[in-house]
Amino acid sequence: MTIDDFDFNDKKALVRVDFNVPLNDAFEVTDTNRIEAAKPTIIKILEDGGSAVLMSHLGRPKGKPTPEMSLSHIAETVSEIIGVQVKFVQDCVGPEVAEAVENLQSGEILLLENLRFHNEEEAGDRAFAEQLSHWGDIYVNDAFGTAHRPHASTTIVAEFFPGKKCFGYLLAREIEAIQKVMKTGEKPVTAILGGAKVSSKITIIENILDKIDHLIIGGGMTYTFVKAQGGTVGDSICEPDKTDLALSILEQAKAKGVEVHLPSDVVAADAFDNSANTQVMPANAIADGWQGLDAGPETLKAFGQVILQSRTILWNGPVGVFEMPAFARGTITIGDYVAEATENGAFSLVGGGDSVAAVKQFGFEEKVSYVSTGGGAMLESLEGKTLPGIAAIQEG
Ligand code: AMP
Repeated sequence: MTIDDFDFNDKKALVRVDFNVPLNDAFEVTDTNRIEAAKPTIIKILEDGGSAVLMSHLGRPKGKPTPEMSLSHIAETVSEIIGVQVKFVQDCVGPEVAEAVENLQSGEILLLENLRFHNEEEAGDRAFAEQLSHWGDIYVNDAFGTAHRPHASTTIVAEFFPGKKCFGYLLAREIEAIQKVMKTGEKPVTAILGGAKVSSKITIIENILDKIDHLIIGGGMTYTFVKAQGGTVGDSICEPDKTDLALSILEQAKAKGVEVHLPSDVVAADAFDNSANTQVMPANAIADGWQGLDAGPETLKAFGQVILQSRTILWNGPVGVFEMPAFARGTITIGDYVAEATENGAFSLVGGGDSVAAVKQFGFEEKVSYVSTGGGAMLESLEGKTLPGIAAIQEG
């Protein structure tokens, strides 16, 4: 059942949101994206004639009330964004909350205090989850960022709402985007994997090989593959103990009919520094004292051809050290190609870690089909894991 199957008229919705937003020294919210992302779900509940009890964590208070991490700091911002004055209660369980929930009228919003002020939240404590469950008639999970955690408010609480639980719009869109790549993606399906190390991407690679036609490998991972194939990598980042793994990935890809595209040339530098001397070198012949820090021009052209003929694109990880302007060109160029393919009708999902930061930094957010809001949750989805927060809703 989707959220649209529910009528919240006269109902209280217990909504797990992800309001884990950054605060400055004056405790002001410096990035409101996550609050805005939860707005459609909250508005739907209120417009139906219901009320919303919002619960979230903020930071890592480790089970103790920590004033700096109080959700009271964000109540005003939430009020402004939703357009309704939010009520705040100084705990997430207990008699004070019971009273505030009891008094909550249709059209009103109650924000509970930081769930992680109680150890029971992260421990997935059943009794604690049961207490939370008293605050709503229907449970709505709209927090993708914590969907991979079996916490009380993200997973365990769902047990207490048989037939009365659903995903919020944000979480539903995340699930749909992942499915479009992993299950129903139109062919050719291309995965662009970058980032620093093979070791952190291995489970993703092995899981997606069954689902893709092309695998583009870029970033620091490149050099482990280069070394595995007998090339020289100079001072480039490399995991020599993972060369067998790299060869095994190439073999598995071949057996599954996946075309692997590795860089042919790279922008190498004589130091890990934005103002280092640079030189374009063959990816498999990097001189001593030099390190590959970005994809080279020939490589980008070849990657571009693959991306432009793809109908479904998954992008995880930058193809260079994009944090330094001198080595951001490759990642920006890949972003341009993904944007162009998307404009031509391809579905593109950017997810997991630093590629999201890169896409935002270089202004591609509106030019790709979907940018995931959940780092760890997206990575675990791509690894093929069932996320407990999602399973808890789907189990009915
Ligand atoms: P990940 O979190 O695994 O996606 O890795 C992202 C990081 O990989 C970014 O901080 C990039 O700077 C880094 N990275 C990308 N390409 C390279 C490279 N050629 N050498 C070193 N680091 C790289």
